[in-house]
Amino acid sequence: MTAKPKTSERNDNTPRDIAAALARVRADLGKAAKAVGRAPGDVTLIAVSKTHDATAVETALAAGQRDFGENRVQEAQSKFPALKAAYPNLVLHLIGPLQSNKTKEAVALFDVIHSLDRPKLAEKLAEEMARQNKSVPCFIQVNTGREAQKAGIDPADVAGFTALCRDRLKLPVLGYMCIPPAGEVPAPHFAFLRELAQRHGLKGLSMGMSGDAVDAVRLGATHVRVGTAIFGARPTFAQS
Ligand SMILES: *Cc1c(COP(=O)(O)O)cnc(C)c1O
Repeated sequence: MTAKPKTSERNDNTPRDIAAALARVRADLGKAAKAVGRAPGDVTLIAVSKTHDATAVETALAAGQRDFGENRVQEAQSKFPALKAAYPNLVLHLIGPLQSNKTKEAVALFDVIHSLDRPKLAEKLAEEMARQNKSVPCFIQVNTGREAQKAGIDPADVAGFTALCRDRLKLPVLGYMCIPPAGEVPAPHFAFLRELAQRHGLKGLSMGMSGDAVDAVRLGATHVRVGTAIFGARPTFAQS
């Protein structure tokens, strides 16, 4: 077994805590990357700011963080337009489920979408990207644990869905995203996702959260989504 990462330490969301937590997470991920012969720069750290206010995001920006993740379109709309205007190189990632009737807003606001998970959404996104003349790179979310309540493409349908998105609809597909089942060892899910990406010639792997980002980097994550370890605990009703 490997040492437990320090990335699950709590903080109280003060500017000093956020900056220190960011430094700690970056150091842990950098070390994990180097340990498997990867360049730390090959891993994009997404600071998941859902439920935290714009002040917390600004603190992270001041500490050099540029990639942020939100799971709800409306919440992101209330926080990020002003921040994006002030920081043109801010990169905003949608990591939560996207309703088909919000694709217009999502394409307008987000720079990367991690939750492409059904044919209807793929068609809507292709339409909307064409209409707005904006290409938004996407990850296909895979339900690696085949959980009934969880979003994502069933592993058995990944080949067909990838062909639909990438080849037929010409969506800019970066790779795959997963959220392993709570209470299961995540590493096998990460390894499986990597195998899927290799099989389909895709490079992007969005996997790893506060508790398992180090494992994810060891297993090839190109994008890790870390909230709690950077911004502190969220109210329990907003955990997912
Ligand atoms: C909230 C969320 C995260 C961040 O989770 P933490 O455990 O706080 O790091 C990552 N990915 C997704 C899809 C999320 O909804």
